[in-house]
Amino acid sequence: MPSSALAGASPSVFDIPYLPDEPLDSVYFLACATTQPRITISAATYDEDEVAEELAEWLRANGAERPFLVASTHGRRLLRRVSTAVGVAPPGPRATQAWARTWSGAARGADAVVAAGGGRCLDAGKLVAAGAGMPLIAVPTQLSHDGVCSPIAVLPRTAGGLAESLEAVAPSMAFFSRPTLIRSPIASLRAGIGDLLSNPLALHDWKLAADAGLEQINHPAWHLSAESFRLIEPLLYEPLGPESVDLGLIGLMAHALVTSSFAMMTVGTSRPVSGAEHKISHAIDELYGRPARHGAQVAFASLVSVALHGLDVEAFRACLVNLGLPHHPAQLGLSHQAMVAALLRAPSTRPGRFTVLESAALDEGEADELVRFLWGGA
Ligand SMILES: [Zn+2]
Repeated sequence: MPSSALAGASPSVFDIPYLPDEPLDSVYFLACATTQPRITISAATYDEDEVAEELAEWLRANGAERPFLVASTHGRRLLRRVSTAVGVAPPGPRATQAWARTWSGAARGADAVVAAGGGRCLDAGKLVAAGAGMPLIAVPTQLSHDGVCSPIAVLPRTAGGLAESLEAVAPSMAFFSRPTLIRSPIASLRAGIGDLLSNPLALHDWKLAADAGLEQINHPAWHLSAESFRLIEPLLYEPLGPESVDLGLIGLMAHALVTSSFAMMTVGTSRPVSGAEHKISHAIDELYGRPARHGAQVAFASLVSVALHGLDVEAFRACLVNLGLPHHPAQLGLSHQAMVAALLRAPSTRPGRFTVLESAALDEGEADELVRFLWGGA
């Protein structure tokens, strides 16, 4: 384990590494202008009947006159005023890459694919749209992760298989229904914040890879990732409860998650927002199923990155407590040994992406010591 993990004085956990040169200049804005989808937040605030009318009209006005719908049960309710759809595919929790290929054929007579639902549904929609060769419009019903507008789809190849990250179609437009999102479970909002909480750590990892001569940093993507974190940073220092959820928070989260998606769109990969903490979360998925939402697992796993980067573990842990996010393996049903196994497995979940895990190259004894450092006997 790097000695810095146990060092007494640490820099702030949220210090994003400084990039010399390349300030926010015209290159940055040009990159954003050419990659960003058009985002709309509903005028309706609390009434889902109202938003169903608004969404149908918005789709027509934006050229989706014969859309193919990939929609969850909730998504279908939001789209119930769309009367000209050429077909509807319900992905359900078991949507696979093979499922998406089948529906791509059915979508070919449409003028756009509209994906309305949670993360799995949007990811299925990205692959259906890619297979059919048409634009995708996203209507998220949760704000639980930053894949809302990303070009990455995470789906298993076949039922029961491990999820794979695939490059797919990023939405050309997205519609956020405030009446829907304000009623979404607070656990999904917490997970969304958790996914963004890891952005500075992913940037630390990216810089590590650049310093080792393995990669080049894309400055617009870097700034977008940092910006999405800064949007949610004020939420980290106060307890987040149901009373914190209002239309302002919904708008802020939509903005922050989309900005993080833009960072991925700029480079076509998840590199600017996904580092060692995502690898550990993927290892937990592979070894133990998914005990919690993606964003919650990523936030929890970020504790390991914080320690390995020599940042302030206790300051970071306090933020997790404020946000109601897991900060101990037991909260995910994991034992000390299970955590050690996840740390040893993590590097293999995304070979070729150099992070602080590869830099530390933990053996079993070091992984055990790190788990003990973070959680005592766990
Ligand atoms: Zn993520």
